[in-house]
Order: sequence, then structure tokens, then C-alpha cells
Amino acid sequence: MAARDSKAAESTPGYFRARVAGVEQISPSLIRVHFDGPGLAGFPSTGVPDESIRLYFPRDGEVEPPPMTVRDGVLGHHDDDDARECRTYTVRHWQQERLSIDFVTHGDGVASLWAAAARVGDMLGIWGVRSWYAPPADTAWQLLVADLPGLPALMRALERLEEGERAHAIVEVAHADDRVDVVTKGDVTIDWRVAGNGRASSELADAVRAYALPDGPGYAWFAGEAAAGREIRKHLRNTCAMPVGRMSIIGYWRADKEQWLERYAPLEDRLLVEYDELVSSGVDETAAEIHWDEMLERAGL
Ligand SMILES: Cc1cc2nc3c(=O)[nH]c(=O)nc-3n(C[C@H](O)[C@H](O)[C@H](O)COP(=O)(O)OP(=O)(O)OC[C@H]3O[C@@H](n4cnc5c(N)ncnc54)[C@H](O)[C@@H]3O)c2cc1C
Repeated sequence: MAARDSKAAESTPGYFRARVAGVEQISPSLIRVHFDGPGLAGFPSTGVPDESIRLYFPRDGEVEPPPMTVRDGVLGHHDDDDARECRTYTVRHWQQERLSIDFVTHGDGVASLWAAAARVGDMLGIWGVRSWYAPPADTAWQLLVADLPGLPALMRALERLEEGERAHAIVEVAHADDRVDVVTKGDVTIDWRVAGNGRASSELADAVRAYALPDGPGYAWFAGEAAAGREIRKHLRNTCAMPVGRMSIIGYWRADKEQWLERYAPLEDRLLVEYDELVSSGVDETAAEIHWDEMLERAGL
């Protein structure tokens, strides 16, 4: 990569360049990659447990992805002929200019394959920090539900609980040895399941249905496969009458994504028009995201 490009990347607001500083296999399905380098200076970590970033990977023949640049006020890879794909990952740790990410190795997929082959010195591009986890101030208990891709964020949520704060976690892993040690001051129970994760049917929705919500104002957070998230949201809203402001249900990945995208493609334009109309009418982000999922469900997606 030309020095001119590196300089441009470092000076493009919102775009960061990360150099692999170390790679650890932390469980059968999880690889932790540590990043550092001057291109991470000023990374705007929010400290919110599920803060996520978009990762850009080098294409064949590239040492690192080219920097995003601003054109007409829009940050992008403007010189690419094909849209450059990115993948969303959670910031597992951000400390002293060093960033760590836990990658699930699930087989095919640009991100999973990249992580499995990552070596010290490899480069990634990073853009955009976003998060959802936001228990209201009066929260008396939390229900945290995740499969493997959601585990890094769930661990961060548990780690920051204070003494007396209550949480029940339901976590689905691919192997018994994917169960990680939990460090927390909180009052925490964990229901580990070896299921789901593209290897077996998910037990998450059944586990949530079987869990009796405690009394008092609670907060539910889900990060995992989108279909499981939809079932859990419906249960919490319809059966438990949980207000939408007390839950964050985020689909992190889709089983059989390729087939889903084939079914989605012919419907995309119509769905986006409907969604844009909704957003222009002023509904808030949470309501819009729920509505989007309901639109997908009505469309058979
Ligand atoms: C906010 C957010 C935070 C996330 N944080 C993390 C994180 O910290 N760690 C992490 O590993 N993932 C995380 N994910 C999920 C990750 O973005 C997806 O799993 C992504 O699809 C992986 O990209 P890929 O290139 O490896 O596979 P893709 O090219 O997207 O998919 C290839 C194939 O693999 C399947 N697939 C994708 N992901 C999985 C999986 N996890 N298990 C089984 N099959 C899968 C797809 O259905 C498809 O058939 C997060 C997602 C979001 C939205």
C-alpha cells in the first residue's frame, strides 16, 4: 500500500486501519485477534458492551483494503468497481490503543476465513461504531441471550455489572468447551446450551419461553441468529407484554444467508420504499427496526 494511501486513511475521519498484533484460539469456535497500530489512534470507543464496527478485508492481491475517502460528503470506497463487502463485529476489548475482536470460525465466509488465517502484520479497515445495549435507569433485572457471535458483547455486559445488579444469561455455544469463564461483580446466573450456531436447531427461543421473568422493571437483550431473535421478540412483546423500550433484539447473522438473499433481492426495492416512508413519518429507531422485521416476516423472509 502506497504511503500516500496510508496517510489519506489516517486522516479520513471515521476510518481506521488496524494491524494484527496477535492471534489466540480461545475456544474451539472462537479466535481472538488483537489489533494495534497508529491507524487506530483516536478510535472512538463508546464503552457500551455491544459496540460494533464494520470490518473491511483485503481482496485477493491487496495487502490491505484501500482507505475509505470522502466524496460529496459521503465516506466510501469510491474507486471500487464493485461494492466492497464489509462484516460487522463487536469490540471485545479496547484498551490503550489496542483493540481485540472474537471471531467465530463457522466455515465459509470472508470474515471467518480471514480470522482463521490471520497472522501478525495483516491489515484490516474499520469504519463506524454502533451499539444497542441500553438498560433503562430503573432496571431491576436483565435477561441476556446470545449465541456465539453475540457472546463477546454478552460477556462485556456481564463484566460491567456492579454488585447487586441481577442478570440471567442464556447462551448457545457450538461445543461444550466454548463456555468461557465469566468475570463479574453482578448477581449472575448462566444457562449454557450446546446447540444452534448453524450446527443444530437453536434452543434459545424455547429457553427464553421457559424462563419466568422476575418481578419488577426488567431489560431484555438478544444478539444472535435473526430467526431466533424474531421468535424471542414476539414472545417478550406478545406473551410477556414487555414494552419495546425495555428490549434490544438484534439479529447478528442469518442461517442460510445465501438462500435468504436470493428470496430478498426481488422484494428489496418495495420493502425499502415502505421502510423509508415509515422513517420519514418520524418513528423512532427501535420502532422502525421492529417494523422492518415485521415487514420481512409478512414478505415470507
Ligand atoms: C452488531 C453485530 C455484532 C457482531 N459481532 C460479532 C462478533 O463479535 N463475532 C462474530 O464472530 N460475529 C459477530 N457478528 C456476526 C457476523 O457479522 C456474521 O456472522 C457474519 O455473517 C460473518 O461473516 P462471514 O464473512 O464470516 O460469513 P458470511 O459471508 O456472512 O456468511 C457465509 C455463510 O456462513 C453462514 N454464517 C455466517 N455467520 C455464521 C455463524 N456465526 N455461524 C454459523 N454460520 C454462519 C451464513 O449463513 C452463510 O451461509 C456480529 C454481527 C452484528 C450485526
